[in-house]
Amino acid sequence: MDLQSLRVLSENFPLSERMPVLFLGHGSPMNAIEENEFVQGFRLLSTTLPKPNAILCISAHWLTNGTFVTAMEKPATIHDFGGFPDELYKQQYPAPGSPKLASATKEVIKSTQVELDMGWGLDHGAWSVIKHLYPKADVPVIQLSIDYSKPAAWHFELAKELSVLRDRGILIIGSGNIIHNLRLVDFKNMYRDNYGYDWAIEAHSQFNSHLLDGNSKALIEYEKLGKSALLAIPTPDHYFPLIYTLGLKTQKDAISLFNDKLMAGSLSMTSVKIA
Ligand code: ZN
Repeated sequence: MDLQSLRVLSENFPLSERMPVLFLGHGSPMNAIEENEFVQGFRLLSTTLPKPNAILCISAHWLTNGTFVTAMEKPATIHDFGGFPDELYKQQYPAPGSPKLASATKEVIKSTQVELDMGWGLDHGAWSVIKHLYPKADVPVIQLSIDYSKPAAWHFELAKELSVLRDRGILIIGSGNIIHNLRLVDFKNMYRDNYGYDWAIEAHSQFNSHLLDGNSKALIEYEKLGKSALLAIPTPDHYFPLIYTLGLKTQKDAISLFNDKLMAGSLSMTSVKIA
């Protein structure tokens, strides 16, 4: 890290114990208001986390050309979905932003130009899960966008540049779904416990063994994992947030899985804690 980045960081974010890194399978936006085992899993997880100074979230729902960080004081709650009950559109998650963390994030990333964004806010990939960790909305949250023109390996390398934030009380959260094929969702079996198609069961076991073996290379090169993995990841929007989480894992970190279930045939809720 250069002197300028160090200055911006240390002025605003004192050294802390090393923070965990999370990947949260967010699933349906209804998880924001439903009571189920997955939101219970998020709540249970929150009891194991040190209180962060701020959160940086990489959500599957903010895909851009170039890399952006939200830099407003008060990010709006974005209801970026269609066809859900009114109650869901009424949800607000009024966590403050952190212009200081946005500037620090821009400083520590050297490999690409990061732009400060004033127009986004918190999309449901961020607020629908973070609200279960911090229901009082008392931890500032910023989002980092996913440059969708870039491959997995690029995101993995970019994530490494964020690792200094872990020592400054920043909780970094990737929010997506490892297995996410919306076109094939079996709506009739939405609530059937741990239900996946044969290919989803195969992909799930492949992904989990690579995760638990620390084989990030295989996960970055997911396109080589075969037919089941390609059905699991028809497009990488919900998968790239996991790649950020993996890029932040060091030799000293252990990896654990929770909410590790298949859903509606073609989704997985598998979530990851790295600490
Ligand atoms: Zn989503």
